[in-house]
Amino acid sequence: MLVVMRADATREQIEAVIGRIKSDGYDVHLSTGVERTLIGIIGESPTPLREDNYSTMDGVDQAVRVTSPFKLAGRNFHPEDSTVHLKGVSFGSRQKIAVIAGPCSVESREQIIETAHAVREAGATALRGGAFKPRSSPYSFQGHGELGLEWLAEAREQTGLAIVTEVMDPALVPMVAQYADMLQIGARNMQNYTLLNAVGVSHHPILLKRGMMSTIEELLMSAEYILAQGNWNIVLCERGIRTFEKYTRNTFDLNAIPVLKDISHLPVIADPSHAVGKWEYVEAVARSAIAAGADGLIVEVHPRPDEALSDGRQSLTPKRFKSMMEQIRQIAQVIGRGA
Ligand code: PEP
Ligand code: MN
Repeated sequence: MLVVMRADATREQIEAVIGRIKSDGYDVHLSTGVERTLIGIIGESPTPLREDNYSTMDGVDQAVRVTSPFKLAGRNFHPEDSTVHLKGVSFGSRQKIAVIAGPCSVESREQIIETAHAVREAGATALRGGAFKPRSSPYSFQGHGELGLEWLAEAREQTGLAIVTEVMDPALVPMVAQYADMLQIGARNMQNYTLLNAVGVSHHPILLKRGMMSTIEELLMSAEYILAQGNWNIVLCERGIRTFEKYTRNTFDLNAIPVLKDISHLPVIADPSHAVGKWEYVEAVARSAIAAGADGLIVEVHPRPDEALSDGRQSLTPKRFKSMMEQIRQIAQVIGRGA
């Protein structure tokens, strides 16, 4: 339920409503907007929730039931756009387009450092690279683990780029967070609730990718797990879903961008690389995502895609990435945003 306070409600009246909610056994999510204060009622309690209990209190405009299963992730409870800040980069509607770029996997110290310099020169705002890789086959390259994180940290030192990397194991969240500026939850782990709770407790910025067979609502319910632990630093990512279409690796759900921006306050970015799986289509999908209102991109770039240990087929060379960035800047300008 959401208690909407009148614009002229006093602090005492707001406090009284909060006190009543707490004494009824519920938790409170307070959203103090420019115009008015919204008080979200969350959690479980044996006391039945009745609109009248709150709508008749002084200073209350109305009490409304929120029927969507996600609360903290939704705009009802939190109408203002959220912004997620990490080292030198901000994600959100009022920010410039943020572009995370780098190889699928951290393959060697030289490879990640070379790529970091190349993507920074082309205008990327953060560096990606997997040290723990979720591979379909146990015989495929699984990543260099902590050594890969050390190389990423060195790349950050040399270029100043923030680091985004995947964490797969709840027990490793504190260790990965020591190196990374942003923790990626991969598509395959979007509904790993133990992992979601662990990154929620960490309070580190999170990049939450949509599961390849998950609905938009399921993505927001996963964000809700992280939010419920008190971590509000979440960026959502549309990375393509599985459909009957075989020509591309996945089907990019462009609809998800305006839908997520409408129903959630969280920043939204797009991953055109995993969505299409072929480098020659990455640029077009990247342009469409920005035109549709995405707050940023995560793009795979490799200095020698033919030699990549994972996802070479969809990786842009630094030269192609540079050309993509130039196009993104133009689109961003047309829709009144910088990049
Ligand atoms: C990746 O970012 O390299 C990755 C594995 O992505 P996803 O989880 O979206 O498949
Ligand atoms: Mn990849």
